[in-house]
Amino acid sequence: MNDTQTASRQHIFNTYARLPVTLVRGEGCRVWDDTGKEYLDFLAGIAVCNLGHCHPAVTRALCEQAQRLVHVSNLFYTRPQVELAAELTRLSFADKVFFSNSGAEANEAAIKLARKAAKERHGEGRFHIIAMKDSFHGRTMATLSATGQEKVHKGFEPLVEGFTFVEFNSVPAVEAAVTEKTCAVLVEPVQGEGGVRFPRPGYLAELKELCLKHDLLLIFDEVQVGMGRTGTLFAHEQEGVTPHIMTLAKALGNGLPIGAMLAVEEVAAAFVPGSHASTFGGTPLVTAAALEVVKVLSNPAFLGGVRETGAYFREKIEALRPRHPVIREVRGRGLMVGVELTVPGQKVVELCLENGLIINCTHENVLRFVPPLIVERQDIDRCLSVLEEALGKGTS
Ligand code: PLP
Repeated sequence: MNDTQTASRQHIFNTYARLPVTLVRGEGCRVWDDTGKEYLDFLAGIAVCNLGHCHPAVTRALCEQAQRLVHVSNLFYTRPQVELAAELTRLSFADKVFFSNSGAEANEAAIKLARKAAKERHGEGRFHIIAMKDSFHGRTMATLSATGQEKVHKGFEPLVEGFTFVEFNSVPAVEAAVTEKTCAVLVEPVQGEGGVRFPRPGYLAELKELCLKHDLLLIFDEVQVGMGRTGTLFAHEQEGVTPHIMTLAKALGNGLPIGAMLAVEEVAAAFVPGSHASTFGGTPLVTAAALEVVKVLSNPAFLGGVRETGAYFREKIEALRPRHPVIREVRGRGLMVGVELTVPGQKVVELCLENGLIINCTHENVLRFVPPLIVERQDIDRCLSVLEEALGKGTS
């Protein structure tokens, strides 16, 4: 353990199971530690640095804005904030945007908005939200209560009231859970922390129909899978359906802390001055950077490249299967790939790290690959050769 790691243990809350590496620099798909060792980063801050580390356009926007205006209160207008909101609404189903600092805060805002919009439309008593088992929506009290994983709840009871959990991918399960108290359905279009699980064809569109039938709001949490990750700017675009509310964060700032809640006008109108706020939400510095991110990520040619590289990646991983029966299933779309093993995956993650490849394991046995979207085929080939060696050693 080096000095940084010892001091970290001494001074920082023990809330993360950290790997024994101190990172000091990043560029594109690579990061370097304090001994100069290079790593190929197929985790990208857990689907955050979609444009790679220190992308020049983002860095330029950040430096220029840092010299002009870093922060003012949301009691004033600022140009970068409105330009980013205009771009996000132009590129999506939404009419309005609320800026936060993280994914949890974006979801917190969505939960509040769903409750308030339902109260205004239907009166008291409609505040329950149906969410999915194995979902993940954040660590604030409301968002952990909305998360369908007991391990996230444990120790923090009593939870915020009004969340019910049903199986992901089952519309009948949602229908059975609807009561006169239900106001919304909250779902990740692709479950990330729940093990990289994709919606079956038609699932999200059927959910929307169900919501319309019962006058419920549909909320998509695209915090992890939005911003180009699955080969379209938003994952739900591939399902031919739009929600009433969507949340974004992670890759929106390519590493800067920003989240956003987007909504259609009739729902957004429930928020008025005093309903919700954030001191740092949509500050000029982060919105100037995020605007550059959105410009690059929304380019159709860029997104086409993500789909092509993703297809190459999945084909190559599939090709490992005959040699490694420990691979139970390969799931992926764009550059979000999960490899489910028949055994726990942490040892494989550690062996990859030793050999200069950063990945992680979610849901105990699902190796998750979410590289920067600028990743090239030779990086993928390198990743697979390290992975193959680790699978050989780490699963026996
Ligand atoms: N929602 C989803 C789908 C996530 O994957 C995450 C984080 O992993 C969050 C919400 C919480 O985001 P944050 O950590 O920025 O609060």
